[in-house]
Amino acid sequence: MADLFQDVSAGGGRCVAVLVPYPVDKAYDYLVPNDMEVEPGDYVLVPLGNRQVTGVVWGEAHDDVPAKKLKTIIHKYILPPMEKHMCDFIDWVARYTLNPVGSVLKMALNVPAALEPPLTTTLYYLKTEGDKLTPTQDKVIKALGSQKMMQADLARSAGVSAGVIKTLADKGVLSTIEAASPPPCCNPKTDFSNISLSPEQQKAANSLTGAVSAQKADILMLDGVTGSGKTEVYFEAVAKTLAMGKQVLILMPEIALSNAFIDRFEKRFGCKPALWHSSLTPANRRITWRGIAESQCRVVVGARSALFLPFSDLGLIIVDESHDGSYKQEEGVIYHARDMAVVRGHLSNAPVVLASATPALETMHNVWEGRYQHIRLPERHGGASMPDIHIIDLREDKPARQSFLSPTLLEAIKETTEQGAQSLLFLNRRGYAPLTLCRTCGYRFECPRCTAWLVEHRHPNGLNCHHCGYGIPIPEKCPECGEEDSLAPCGPGIERIEEEAKSHFPDARIAVLSSDISEDQSELRKMLDQIRRHKYDIVIGTQIIAKGHHFPKLATVGIVDADIGLHGGDLRAAERSFQLLHQVAGRAGRELGVQGRVFLQSFNPSSRVIEALASGDRDQFLDVEAEERKAANMPPYARLGAIIIFCVDEDVTIATARNLAKCAPNGPGLVTYGPAQAPLYRIRGRYRYRFLVHAEKHLNIQKAISDWRALVKIPSTVKVQIDIDPQSFL
Ligand code: ADP
Ligand code: ZN
Repeated sequence: MADLFQDVSAGGGRCVAVLVPYPVDKAYDYLVPNDMEVEPGDYVLVPLGNRQVTGVVWGEAHDDVPAKKLKTIIHKYILPPMEKHMCDFIDWVARYTLNPVGSVLKMALNVPAALEPPLTTTLYYLKTEGDKLTPTQDKVIKALGSQKMMQADLARSAGVSAGVIKTLADKGVLSTIEAASPPPCCNPKTDFSNISLSPEQQKAANSLTGAVSAQKADILMLDGVTGSGKTEVYFEAVAKTLAMGKQVLILMPEIALSNAFIDRFEKRFGCKPALWHSSLTPANRRITWRGIAESQCRVVVGARSALFLPFSDLGLIIVDESHDGSYKQEEGVIYHARDMAVVRGHLSNAPVVLASATPALETMHNVWEGRYQHIRLPERHGGASMPDIHIIDLREDKPARQSFLSPTLLEAIKETTEQGAQSLLFLNRRGYAPLTLCRTCGYRFECPRCTAWLVEHRHPNGLNCHHCGYGIPIPEKCPECGEEDSLAPCGPGIERIEEEAKSHFPDARIAVLSSDISEDQSELRKMLDQIRRHKYDIVIGTQIIAKGHHFPKLATVGIVDADIGLHGGDLRAAERSFQLLHQVAGRAGRELGVQGRVFLQSFNPSSRVIEALASGDRDQFLDVEAEERKAANMPPYARLGAIIIFCVDEDVTIATARNLAKCAPNGPGLVTYGPAQAPLYRIRGRYRYRFLVHAEKHLNIQKAISDWRALVKIPSTVKVQIDIDPQSFL
């Protein structure tokens, strides 16, 4: 080491800039040891303060620190460097979202263990053809073929116990080696199975494969009603990309990473896709991340964070259910994965396919402006018809007292069950009741830490905050007036709908699904499978069941409260409500021979959303929506940026909001609104204020906000969140 430093002061050392995954705005200079070769994108270990951290060589040194003060790179990892397109993408996201570039790198570098050499495990392979094998042992030989497999995987795919494998090894039929187990999806087969597409589907598929062959960053909006075969169509583009030797990323709203999709993929390509979502095991993350960096994993299906995986040869990105709200990350680096996918595709010269039955207005606006290609699949595959929509006016078709299902809807469920088909009741509210109050004194249970009512749950029993997790058992008497048996649940959650359904249909098999059970993803997946296999007559669920599922026997859908999404009244309330209800409705009657019926319960049946759902005229709905946004000069016709500040100390929050207000940007074409108390004024004990910057489309809203931010000294206890293109206004 000492020698190296002498070299440097003699002017012989080389320096490079290394970006570290911490909230830093730029890469820092480091010395490169004489015996090390580095190039941009290399993963390296460097000293930072008194720690050693992993970073990425970001480019030439800035030469802004005297050589004597520089520290030296400790180690370079043996791994293909991060691709230039990926580094550019990280820089781009940082600039667009106004986050330190190191914070964005952190999202791309969140599996440090993957940089280490891969772990080895014991793999089994076939040594000799044994004779006189039992049928069970034969299964193992068949499943193994010429592969090398881990014991557990082999046992699972052969459908035998681990003991059978051990016996075969003892007999010398199988042998073992220590090797790294191969990453998932190394060898998908483009022609493993084929279905014949309808002429319309084929035409759509040709547009997609054409874009893949051209290796241009085209953006294609694949716009088709639910059940029209969008997935089958984009699978053709996946096959084309694989045939060209490139990698594919398929983004999905997290919950849709269901067995059903994975099975379908496996049937088409002969192996499972690599998965990327929050409940992967650490070992799986490690092997997948590295497999992607080494270009071994060919297809990744993931939630929004998969956008930050180190693909080295990306040839296609698909954003399925591209309108879905869960593509927006609302914490840390706030970004919209749909929009960033478009950017990533652009930087990598890869086409991006946005698939949806209810595209976002932003997306349609780009179609209208000619920026995105529009590919339509207007009909359900194979002649399955769209469901019939019935509006139930709750003012006339009244549910019984303290009940929520109207006579018409109950009758439809009864018929459906008798016909041996399935019904779905949709209500986007977890728990038993959204509010509990005292009938004697009017006391309402509120979260002590959040601006929110406590939600009553019966399984298990409790009053819980859905924002911070605070919870208490349901008390016997009112904490305010002390009256016993005076607490009353107000309004329905899905548990209450379950109670009501049970009382009407005591013999029906009823499933209740919400994110309350989904903490354990495997439990949720199991239930979804059982629903597909018709183990339930009535399914009651929140939006978790709205997305992408295909339940063959589902004939009747009841939307318990079609007005619910409109209460918030933000910019996109109508649009979001339409998307969600349309998607739920689209679960009904997806197979030929099952005529779908949808019942929408509403107190306001003449609202635009309900009328659009009833008439099925999505395009007209979008036209009106677009007119309204244009008249109000709102996105996509203008730009918005939100600044949210929060702190546990209310006075400090208010003082900071005032200081920011003093120099808020205002000028031609740009206005700052606020500060205003956030609608969710308190979350987890922190007080929140919001500003909203509104700018004409051609103005640089990022510059206005970052200049403003730099003018004000913000106390260290106050957090500032910047949300460009906000979706949530809470
Ligand atoms: P979407 O993604 O538009 O909702 P899917 O691709 O899931 O539609 O197709 C709906 C159903 O129809 C699926 O079960 C799918 O396998 C089937 N399907 C679609 N196109 C075809 C086809 N050309 N041949 C056979 N089955 C098809
Ligand atoms: Zn709370």
